[in-house]
Amino acid sequence: MKIAVIGTGYVGLVTAAGLAEFGHTVIGTDKDAAKIDLISRGISPIYEPGLEDLLKKTLASGNLSFTADVDAAIRDAGVIFVCVGTPQDEEGRAEMSQIEGVARSIARNLNGYKVVVEKSTVPVKTSEWIKRVIGLYRRGDTPFDVASNPEFLREGSAVRDFLEPDRIIVGVETDRARDALVRIYEKFRERVLVTSIDTAELIKHASNSFLALKISYINMIADLCDRTDADVEQVALGMGLDPRIGRQFLKAGLGYGGSCFPKDIRALTKIGEDLGVDMGLLREADKVNHGRTGQFLDKVKKALWILKDKKIAVLGLAFKPETDDIREASSIRIIRELVKEGAALRIYDPKAMDNMKEIFPPSAQVAYCEGPYQAAQDANALLVVTEWEEFRALDLGRVRELMANPIIVDGRNMFDPVAVRGLGFEYYPVGRK
Ligand code: NAD
Repeated sequence: MKIAVIGTGYVGLVTAAGLAEFGHTVIGTDKDAAKIDLISRGISPIYEPGLEDLLKKTLASGNLSFTADVDAAIRDAGVIFVCVGTPQDEEGRAEMSQIEGVARSIARNLNGYKVVVEKSTVPVKTSEWIKRVIGLYRRGDTPFDVASNPEFLREGSAVRDFLEPDRIIVGVETDRARDALVRIYEKFRERVLVTSIDTAELIKHASNSFLALKISYINMIADLCDRTDADVEQVALGMGLDPRIGRQFLKAGLGYGGSCFPKDIRALTKIGEDLGVDMGLLREADKVNHGRTGQFLDKVKKALWILKDKKIAVLGLAFKPETDDIREASSIRIIRELVKEGAALRIYDPKAMDNMKEIFPPSAQVAYCEGPYQAAQDANALLVVTEWEEFRALDLGRVRELMANPIIVDGRNMFDPVAVRGLGFEYYPVGRK
């Protein structure tokens, strides 16, 4: 059975290459012809560890190919994975026009039974809309099924996550669709959880919102620590040793960003409210997260008082390490505010600078540097915004020599306060002294 993957962004490209690695014949397609041209030549348009190697390998094996002809890819395939974007609209709901567009394309090209698989993160009940759209626009009554197979990969470890998933959720309403998907994931049979489509759709939103909630919770505790002598790193450790709580996602700092958690928690809030459910818990988590950058900037002001004409080094732009993705990154709000205050920024990120240049082109106030030491040169303060390992390994003695004033405001608790202060820095971490 041939598989088509529609949308070759962060999820679709990994899905296409990953399914080809499992031994399936996969055709990837995207409306962005320039992207398809790059990918067809084995070049990944995004930075994701291991992705380009996997892409080259699966292209060479003959299992994977790409086309910019979305219609042809649909006609050619028996199973169609829909991996297009579901961004948020101005009210926080999932904006579903990309999904609707693909559903219409599928209807137009429905030349035999196909399983249409929602891989994008979609609101519960989306499958009903997809069925309705395909039903309305297809010619005749060619049969099809809709299924849900939400994706749980994390940017930065997407290839590993896809090739070694801890669970595979398959939401179906017919045996035919279930058999097709179970066959595709044959290798991981014991990790497949088959559910109804509504349940599968909700599992994804519920999982992401829970993780976001956990981050906001520890950030609220960090605020308590900031006002007492408690240390949030140790509080998190002590909490996390309880297996019911677990240690992951208890990292205080600048909060969550990226293309998933912020939009997914808002989308689920809207879904609940539209259905008459009190979603106040999620609203508060979103509010806590939103407040993180303001608190961080307060610390910068506490250290520097007036920001106008101050030279400030900013380390890290990506919403998290090991990705070039800056969607909903806290760096954007921080840079915008610092520029507004009249500071002169010296910015560095290992992978995300090209993306950030599209939002903040180089200017008198925004200079992009070749490395962290260049950014630190003559700076009045250094801000840590993304916890790249490269920054942990910095020679802070050298950084101190380069800076005009030895001040570090660390939004990710990367350094040991005692060691940093021992080098002569004024150090402002999160939720600890
Ligand atoms: P993306 O914006 O990187 O990629 C979407 C791609 O779809 C783009 O390349 C776009 O050109 C293409 N596209 C849009 N409309 C199209 C159409 N009609 N025909 C063909 N191609 C079309 O998005 P992403 O980050 O890959 O996310 C995709 C979905 O997966 C979203 O629902 C997201 O919430 C979900 N998701 C994302 C992640 C993540 O870490 N990025 C993880 C799990 C789930």
